[in-house]
Amino acid sequence: TYDFNGQVALVTGAASGMGAATARAFAEAGAALVLVDRDETRLEEIGRAITSAGGKAITLAGDVADEDLAKAAVGRAIAEFGRLDMAYNNAGILGPMCPMPEETGEGYDAVNAVNLRGVWTFLKHELIQMRKQGAGAIVNCSSLGGLVGLPGRAAYHATKHGVIGLTKSAALDVAAEGIRVNAICPGCIDTPMGDGIEPEAMKAFLADQPIGRAGRPEEVASVVLWLCSPAASLIVGVALPVDGGFVAH
Ligand code: NAD
Repeated sequence: TYDFNGQVALVTGAASGMGAATARAFAEAGAALVLVDRDETRLEEIGRAITSAGGKAITLAGDVADEDLAKAAVGRAIAEFGRLDMAYNNAGILGPMCPMPEETGEGYDAVNAVNLRGVWTFLKHELIQMRKQGAGAIVNCSSLGGLVGLPGRAAYHATKHGVIGLTKSAALDVAAEGIRVNAICPGCIDTPMGDGIEPEAMKAFLADQPIGRAGRPEEVASVVLWLCSPAASLIVGVALPVDGGFVAH
């Protein structure tokens, strides 16, 4: 458990899965939250659940690819809570699930807009604020798909490899200013995103997991909190597998 009382965290894709679990974990550790998602209804439910449990959370609905939304979200953190200390840039979609020659330009652009541009927009505006404060910790969500290739998901894997390149370069830009930027690479995690995968393909994927099961969103949230905490003060620019051994096998 961590003590983030007096600190402020921003989470994108906070209405579901790992984003929602991380928002709850940050709130339980005392952080005030700015929560962003394009699913306004579910986002407000998560925000209300956190505030009714005694936490502090404000919500902002929109598309993470929109740079104005990123600027506005950081602005809300400052207006409501006076600072921004931590961020988890997590919103993502699976996109086209087919062999690469069958992918379309529209499908590629759609997954790239969320998974890569949508990390870039938030990372940029979080860093502008954290530079003013001279401190901060940011975790970007990549995937096992950022470390290895798998058939039938080339666009997704391209964006997740991109998140790692973005993370490493940005980390070096701000490391000397007391700001840490890292990425996590979750493996197969039990969230609604898995609903987009064919049941047979999911069964085979699960059978191929070294730990013999999917991860739980809370098991990823705890790693995000650790990376944002002073316990990870030397961790800079890494792409950390959180995958029960998948990329090791
Ligand atoms: P999820 O579908 O449960 O949650 C994703 C959230 O992102 C949703 O609430 C959705 O509304 C939001 N979102 C999607 N596009 C958005 C946009 N343009 N703007 C704002 N919000 C948007 O999925 P999850 O599994 O919790 O995924 C979270 C992250 O983890 C994603 O980046 C995903 O690629 C990554 N990931 C997931 C797995 C897995 O097995 N579930 C594995 C590796 C990486």
